[in-house]
Amino acid sequence: MVKYGKFVALITVAVVAVAAFALVGCSQPAATTPAPTTTSTAAPAADLKLVTPGQLTAGSDTTFPPFESIVGGVAQGFDVDLLTAIAKEAGITKVVFSSEIFDSLIPTLKAGGKFDVIASGMTIKPERKLEIDFTDPYFDSNQSVAMKTGGTYTAPADLKGKKVGVQSGTTGASWAVENLKPAGATVIQFKDTASCFAALQAGNVDAVINDLPVTAEYVKDPSKGLIMAAQIPTGEQYGFGVSKDNPALLKALNDGLAKVRASGEYDTIYTKYFGTAPSK
Ligand code: GLN
Repeated sequence: MVKYGKFVALITVAVVAVAAFALVGCSQPAATTPAPTTTSTAAPAADLKLVTPGQLTAGSDTTFPPFESIVGGVAQGFDVDLLTAIAKEAGITKVVFSSEIFDSLIPTLKAGGKFDVIASGMTIKPERKLEIDFTDPYFDSNQSVAMKTGGTYTAPADLKGKKVGVQSGTTGASWAVENLKPAGATVIQFKDTASCFAALQAGNVDAVINDLPVTAEYVKDPSKGLIMAAQIPTGEQYGFGVSKDNPALLKALNDGLAKVRASGEYDTIYTKYFGTAPSK
């Protein structure tokens, strides 16, 4: 009996040893093999710092179709649909657009308390990146010259002695001041794009410098008597603007944008507003 008892004890030790070896053997590769690459999950919406909890509030110059405009009291456009799709990926089901003057967007975002994100066809520029963060680019754009039907433009000298309307604080305004002012044009600043085009129609300015896709939208209606006289390749990219104090929101929006691109929803929204899928 004593012998038998010892035998059982030995076997038990051996089994435990094998089991322990097996455990170590199993756990080691798991510890050294990198985790499978999955897209990182955004922080739950409840953890995001938002002006109104559970809701994404966007500051926007809503006179900028087809990116943002107010139709029947409701914000609509490419930026509205894209931001709504991105927010959904981040677990936020409500997106509200607050109409602002373009020039005021960055200072108001920095001051905090009014909106969480700038969604306003805003070009990512080094000077702006000193003030706020931008998401990854979501749209490629250029500048353009709009004139009354019959007008022509080939070079800045064509606007010598003429009045050129721009929207204050925009890349179009900077381009006009840098390129048309030295050529002898008078650059007149307006508060929004709609005012620029109204002035062009009224004959108060001879040309408008503005983002190409928006000018294309404004001149679409032939009854306005306006044309896009020239395209100006500036190679701009739009990004959504986020406060430097809110890196979690920036990450949630970037993760959401990547998912919306990967799922094909980006292409669907693009096609809705521009007729064809984006060129890659
Ligand atoms: N893309 C231009 C800019 O960022 C114009 C934007 C706008 O007028 N909404 O300056």
